[in-house]
Amino acid sequence: MARKPILAGNWKMHGSTAEAKALAGGLAAKVGQQTDRGVILGPPFTALATTLDAVKGTNIIVSAQNMHFEEKGAFTGEVSPTMLQDLGVTHVILGHSERREIFGETDELINKKVASALAHDLTAILCVGETLDQRDAGKTNDVVTGQVKAGLQGVTTAQAPKIILAYEPVWAIGTGRVATPEQAQDVHAAIRACVNGLGLPGDDIAILYGGSVKPDNVDGLMACPDIDGALVGGASLKVEDFTRIVEFQS
Ligand code: PEP
Repeated sequence: MARKPILAGNWKMHGSTAEAKALAGGLAAKVGQQTDRGVILGPPFTALATTLDAVKGTNIIVSAQNMHFEEKGAFTGEVSPTMLQDLGVTHVILGHSERREIFGETDELINKKVASALAHDLTAILCVGETLDQRDAGKTNDVVTGQVKAGLQGVTTAQAPKIILAYEPVWAIGTGRVATPEQAQDVHAAIRACVNGLGLPGDDIAILYGGSVKPDNVDGLMACPDIDGALVGGASLKVEDFTRIVEFQS
């Protein structure tokens, strides 16, 4: 099965509702009718409803950036999978390195979130990636495949269509230092082999690259056989830049 490219924006903690409306509305006009590639926007929780409204009638998908694994309860400040479903959200980013590093999320917690997302029919965008120290120590593939195995524990073949993976080397996120296409391709191939080794259909699962993707480097990355798309932070906040990324040429 040919994998459809996916270009996803992670807006992180940026944007008022007015800014979200302008950004999502601008992208809806520019790339809302794409059919040969998927376009995903990931606004903060407070802008999910506005963004969903702004992309109504287009093919653009809206994703949350995180969620709790429980449906409800005494979890002050958290948002549940059923709350996301209630809004009409279909995707959720899980295990972003900022969640792992700043908020102490473990592989075990992330796996609970993946399981919960799938149980609630949400597509999980599971992020993995190594630090610079780990790369320098030659541990990249071990670290990344370890995160993939832990994150996907218990996931079944029937659930695999609701999994998107994102390889995001921590040293490349928000730093302007992008992995070379060769570096990214090597890790993507290792991730795909790992997923196949788990008995899941690795050849059907999209693996996105994330880490300082910009209009001027997206084409080289997208030319790699195992890079199926991009998860984009900074450059997803500008209509023009993200449009060019969606319209990558390779
Ligand atoms: C990200 O937030 O997932 C990301 C890759 O950020 P940036 O594109 O800014 O490096």
